[in-house]
Amino acid sequence: MSESIPKLDMRKVHNYVRALESHYPSTNPFHNAIHAADVGQSMYSFLRQDFASSFTPLEKFALVLAAFAHDVGHNGKNNDFLIKTQDPMATRFEDQSPLENYHLCLARKLLEGSEVNFLCDLEPHDQERFQAILEKTILGTDNALHFSKLKRFKAMVEEHDGVVDKDFLMEVLLHAADISNPCKLYEHGGPYKVWCDSVMAEFYALGDLERKHGLPPTELFQRSKPVDEVQIGFTSFFVRPLYEALGQVKGFDATGMLANIDCNLAYWQRVKTARESPRVESSQTVTECGKRTKRRRRNAMVFSMLGKETVDFLQTLVEG
Ligand SMILES: [Zn+2]
Repeated sequence: MSESIPKLDMRKVHNYVRALESHYPSTNPFHNAIHAADVGQSMYSFLRQDFASSFTPLEKFALVLAAFAHDVGHNGKNNDFLIKTQDPMATRFEDQSPLENYHLCLARKLLEGSEVNFLCDLEPHDQERFQAILEKTILGTDNALHFSKLKRFKAMVEEHDGVVDKDFLMEVLLHAADISNPCKLYEHGGPYKVWCDSVMAEFYALGDLERKHGLPPTELFQRSKPVDEVQIGFTSFFVRPLYEALGQVKGFDATGMLANIDCNLAYWQRVKTARESPRVESSQTVTECGKRTKRRRRNAMVFSMLGKETVDFLQTLVEG
């Protein structure tokens, strides 16, 4: 297997990444370029694990680029809102994953132009493979597909003893990277707190828009809904089961991520307990989590370093 991607022009790749960045609205509290960079870094951290040794350099490259591109042009709304308000974006894609289809179209459109289009320099089969990965993984980030995807993935992992279809695994990886916030740390300045605050701000803004359009209020978007309940629900029923399944894949070690998830869940449980019975002091849980502070700080450091490493990784694909 070749260790680099023949004919890849890194200058054009840089231009493309910059074009993507400039099409993420900075006015979105959550779905902005920093979220895209975070998902790209999470993807890169996955690809350093043993399971990825069967992936070609082009496949790894396509996955990191798909992560950078996966929410490009996001308008801060969700598919449900776009469909209910008959937004032109929903009409354009006949109510089928309108946001994800739009992100894919824009990601492809931004590839046009001689200073940006690194793809046209590649071999035809590499061009096709890149486009196929981009399409499958970006469309696969629609959260409405989560439970059917998880069911299929769990069945595949169990049936084939941790060996799964590579293309489907790629789709699951981008979805997992996209919802990886609770795998990072909340307390002690961890990045999950920043993501949590910004996603809640975007939810509340969407709740306000629902009211403005006279739509029935979505419970999740109401300021009256306690954040601890939102996060416990999302992490327990959505994120944790997916990472448990990923941990069953041969060569994928999810131990650290699951430990962070559990630590965050314990934190939210303490917040919930304090909110429901303000005078109850949950000293036992505090002590338990206190013991883990050192390791959690170390993990936070690793994540903060991934920015440079991701760039270095892209560079090695060119230099071999
Ligand atoms: Zn996203």
